[in-house]
Amino acid sequence: PTDAKYTGRFAPSPSGQLHFGSLVTALASYLDAKHHCGEWLVRMEDIDEPRCIAGTDREILMSLEAHGLKWDGTVMYQSQQHERYQQVLNSLLDDQRAYYCSCTRKMITAMGGIYNGQCRDKNLVPAEHELAVRLKLDGQLLPSTDVIMEDIALSPRPSEDVVIKRRDQLFSYNLVVILDDAYQGVTHIIRGCDLIEVTPLHLSMYEALGFTAPQYGHVPVAAVAPGRKLSKQNHASPINNARALENIVAALQFLGFCDVKTRDFDSVDALLSYAISIWDRKKVVKTPEIIVPQHESTY
Ligand code: GLU
Repeated sequence: PTDAKYTGRFAPSPSGQLHFGSLVTALASYLDAKHHCGEWLVRMEDIDEPRCIAGTDREILMSLEAHGLKWDGTVMYQSQQHERYQQVLNSLLDDQRAYYCSCTRKMITAMGGIYNGQCRDKNLVPAEHELAVRLKLDGQLLPSTDVIMEDIALSPRPSEDVVIKRRDQLFSYNLVVILDDAYQGVTHIIRGCDLIEVTPLHLSMYEALGFTAPQYGHVPVAAVAPGRKLSKQNHASPINNARALENIVAALQFLGFCDVKTRDFDSVDALLSYAISIWDRKKVVKTPEIIVPQHESTY
């Protein structure tokens, strides 16, 4: 352990129960935090309320508990943070670091797919119609370093002013994930490789918002076929809480810790203590996506 203070987190969207893929991410973020003597928070990313299913948050928390993954502090719900988000948005608008935009998707397609900033100086204000809000970003997106995947070489991309509140008045995921991580003092984000592409944007947003960026590390995602991560949409079965020991062993093996065997442990807690002690970012498999058999009994 080298970091003076470490706060990590797992941030599931309660649009489906915990499945093998999300267990892998939860476990990796937990082990990385605990190996570095850090805190591990859980945050429900229920900002996109229409997509959330009532009661799923409880099921996810029950599965985490059944798998011995004890979080620190209380669970934050994004759906209860609107006031704080709106305050930040207002001050960004006041400081002219953000502005209203009336461009439609069709207009952006006509611009070649990258928003050209044409509403920046129009001083639009919502009247009959609601408008989207964009954050000003200039130059290239910042390059990212990754404490797990190491030399990921994402090609430099120009930045475009990013939508932070949608025309339908939902705060964008990209905004709230950053506001919450900064608010909660998260120093390390260990998450799935499906989010690796968006990390340069997140780093650029941290800079534009004047926050210190955390360190990022991405772990392989479980997929049913190339490009199709295990998800509720492709019917990933919910994790079986009665097989916690087997599930954690399977998740550890997936991550590259292949020597861990179920028979060597008589409890989840004993297995987790061992896993915390052997956790090593260097040993995590560096393949962004791994195809898993969908119907294995342990998953
Ligand atoms: N809520 C996101 C998801 O479930 C994860 C966001 C993150 O880890 O930054 O995919």
